[in-house]
Amino acid sequence: MLLDFDGPLCSVFAGFPAPEVAERLRWGLLAQGEQAPPGGETETDPLALLRLVADARPDLAVVTDQALTGLETDAVRVGRPNEGGESLLRACARSGRSVSVVSNNAGAAITAYLVERELDRYVVGVFGRVVGDPASMKPSPRLLIDAMDARDSKPGECIFIGDAARDVEAGFAAGISTIGYANKPGKEARLAEAGAVLVVDSMQTIADALL
Ligand SMILES: [Mg+2]
Repeated sequence: MLLDFDGPLCSVFAGFPAPEVAERLRWGLLAQGEQAPPGGETETDPLALLRLVADARPDLAVVTDQALTGLETDAVRVGRPNEGGESLLRACARSGRSVSVVSNNAGAAITAYLVERELDRYVVGVFGRVVGDPASMKPSPRLLIDAMDARDSKPGECIFIGDAARDVEAGFAAGISTIGYANKPGKEARLAEAGAVLVVDSMQTIADALL
C-alpha cells in the first residue's frame, strides 16, 4: 500500500496555512539577500514556490528545501489528522499489508508527524521529495518507484492512494493503479478524469474494505 501524506493521513496546512508558509519561505530568501524568482512573489503554494526557486536558482534549491522542511515540520504539529487514514494504517497492519508513505512533502516532517502520533510502527518506509530536487515530486513517478524498489515490489502488487490528479498521473507513469481520495467538492471528477481506478470520499471506506 502506497499512501500519499497530505490529505490521506493529515491536512498538513490546516493550522499553518500554505500561503503563510510560502510567505515565510520568501522571508528566508530575503534574509539571505536573495528574493523569490519572477512569479514567486505571489505564489501561495510553498511546494510550487520551491519548484520555482529551484528552476530559477539551482544554487538555492537545497537551502530553500531545508527551510521549507523546517516550516512543514512546524505545520504538521498543528495539522489536522485524518482519522480514516489512521484506520487504514491499522487495517493494513491487521491484514498483513505493508504501507509506505509517498509524498511531495519533506520526509523529515512526515516522519516527525508519524512518530508524534505513534503511527510510525505502521509504516515501513517514508519517501518524501528528494531534498534540493523538486523534480522528484509527483507527477514524477520517481518516489513511487523508489518506494517499490525498497520493498522489491512490482507495480501489480501495489496500490497507491492520493488526493490530487498529480498522484494519479504519477501512479500511471509508475504503472500502479491509483485510488483517488476526493476530500473536497469537485475533486471527484478531476481524479476520475486523471484515470483513478476508484474514487472514494472517505479513507475509512478503504479501511473497512480491507477487514
Ligand atoms: Mg495529497
